[in-house]
Amino acid sequence: MGRNEEKYVAEAFESNWIAPLGPNVDLFEKAIAGRLGEGVSVAALSSGTAAIHLGLKLLGVGRGDEVLCQSFTFSASANPIVYLGARPVFIDSEPGTWNLSPALLEEAIKDRLARGKKPKAIVAVHLYGMPYQVEAIHEIASRYGIPVLEDSAEALGSTYKGVPCGTLGEIGILSFNGNKIITTSGGGALVSKDRELRNRAVFLATQARDEAPHYEHSAIGHNYRMSNVLAGIGRGQMEVLDDRVAARRANFDFYTRQLRHLDGIEFLKEPEGFYSNRWLTCILTPSYDVREQIRLALQEEDIESRPLWKPMHLQPVFHEEPAYEDGTSEALFARGLCLPSGSNLREEDLSRITDLISKIIS
Ligand SMILES: *Cc1c(COP(=O)(O)O)cnc(C)c1O
Repeated sequence: MGRNEEKYVAEAFESNWIAPLGPNVDLFEKAIAGRLGEGVSVAALSSGTAAIHLGLKLLGVGRGDEVLCQSFTFSASANPIVYLGARPVFIDSEPGTWNLSPALLEEAIKDRLARGKKPKAIVAVHLYGMPYQVEAIHEIASRYGIPVLEDSAEALGSTYKGVPCGTLGEIGILSFNGNKIITTSGGGALVSKDRELRNRAVFLATQARDEAPHYEHSAIGHNYRMSNVLAGIGRGQMEVLDDRVAARRANFDFYTRQLRHLDGIEFLKEPEGFYSNRWLTCILTPSYDVREQIRLALQEEDIESRPLWKPMHLQPVFHEEPAYEDGTSEALFARGLCLPSGSNLREEDLSRITDLISKIIS
């Protein structure tokens, strides 16, 4: 936590706004919008997953539709497709950003069209804070007339050619879950440049109540709005977002300095124009065996590290869904490790980790 979270939460108590609306919700939305730039509207929600669910619904995804989804991601990018009765079609990554491969995306679109079904939306992810190839992906998306839902859950504070992640697609989503770069313990947001669309998201998130003195409903709603108490935490967290990004990037720089000389250890570089919040620092090792050796040696010292996300097309729950893949994310999963990346790590903590890894590799 930063300096002012408790103060803003106390305001919620003092004013008795203990509800999924109130001044903290409004001010948190303003703070996010202010950060993301001119003309951006924000709806604070109960989670990033809820934001993806509403976002896909607003893009018209429904029963029987197909949605193209980055395979190399957390399951929450794909689950809401299934909530809507639609089918995920998974697309592999490219090695430069670890995100959506433009070539495989286009191949998938052509193949789905040839099978007689136009995909309803594309879920593109800025994984670990690294922007995807925005121009290439959006060029394909607009050429085929398919909207992009930009999963920016891990990328608040990242930019592509100076433009904040979260504002690049038709709809963007953010997460403030406990593990993200800033947190409200649980929470998320839907981001759009279309104020009407943002208002529609709030309408659906508050049980789709039509204007009437009684409870009148012409649509199916959800209970997805953010609590005014948690939004108080969010207001405080927005004040320290820059500090958090700086801390994460400093972790990455330290790890790179200490480990880049080691045989077979690789880091994901920022291509020209890409700026990552470096939410997590990840390394690629030469092989699955070395990856496991490092992970288990760290565990022995009570240091938690984790393999990279297991691709969705390899998950038991999605094994019957179509996938356009070339082995890229499967290899990343086999060889990759997320290193401890908290914003409060000290240099001596980081040194313990890099010393251990250096010892194993040499
Ligand atoms: C965390 C995360 C989500 C879901 O956000 P929640 O707030 O935890 O529901 C979605 N996509 C990605 C890539 C995430 O990392």
